[in-house]
Amino acid sequence: MSGDYLDGKVVLVTGGASGIGRSVAEVCVELGARTAICDLVPGEAPEGQVALNCDVTDPAAVERAFAAAREAFGRVDAVVNCAGVWRPRSDGPITAVSDETWDRIIAVNLTGTFNVCREAVRVMEAQGHGSIVTIASVVAITGWEKLNAYSASKGGVLSLSRALAIECGPKNIRVNCICPGVIETPMTEKVLAYSQPDVLPIGRLGHPRDIAHTAAFLCSDRSGFTTAATVVVDGGFSAA
Ligand code: NAP
Repeated sequence: MSGDYLDGKVVLVTGGASGIGRSVAEVCVELGARTAICDLVPGEAPEGQVALNCDVTDPAAVERAFAAAREAFGRVDAVVNCAGVWRPRSDGPITAVSDETWDRIIAVNLTGTFNVCREAVRVMEAQGHGSIVTIASVVAITGWEKLNAYSASKGGVLSLSRALAIECGPKNIRVNCICPGVIETPMTEKVLAYSQPDVLPIGRLGHPRDIAHTAAFLCSDRSGFTTAATVVVDGGFSAA
């Protein structure tokens, strides 16, 4: 039986079939929300939720996903932007980064977030309220050697989030950006198998639920005075 501080809320989660996005959807349901899970391969939705095929790089697909979520649930109260790609092998020294790698990472991580935020604002403006959560990364703040395209895409997400928060405050739409550290997900599992970060003050890697609970709080009315925030959830990594 679910029910808690997200009771009655409708949350749309991009990248909701895997890793952090999947965990965000699960936690939001546990806290009482109904969720629209959007992904390239969305899989089966749990009872009471909807799973939607949506490529965030395609503005028309994003528009269709929001329309489907509204058809299912009547509105969209919050959006969590988890769709993303990381290519550690091809996003290396800048002289080795191909045009294709750069374009794809920017297209999914930055343009995809822009497409989703733009549609979210259209919908939320008409509703008169909403909360948008973006997912950048600690690399948007710290930088990370030989991770050029990914770092740039996440820096863009962080800047977009702040600009949008200022624009949307008067519309009663909040925008906050989470910067995760190293979280154990399908995105990171291959890299972590042979390389573990050694400077984590908290003494462990992150779990998707560590990010999901922060996202759920930012979706909820409990964070009603929080907007334009950069929320670092990294086990102390960036401070160390
Ligand atoms: P993940 O397990 O790979 O999940 C990402 C999901 O996004 C996957 O289901 C992926 O589908 C989907 N996706 C990729 N391209 C898409 C597109 N064009 N349209 C819609 N969905 C798309 O990765 P994660 O670790 O949970 O990452 C979630 C977010 O957190 C990403 O933005 C990532 O950059 C960010 N982040 C992660 C970490 C970490 O340590 N894990 C740290 C900082 C930030 P496919 O699997 O089919 O590609």
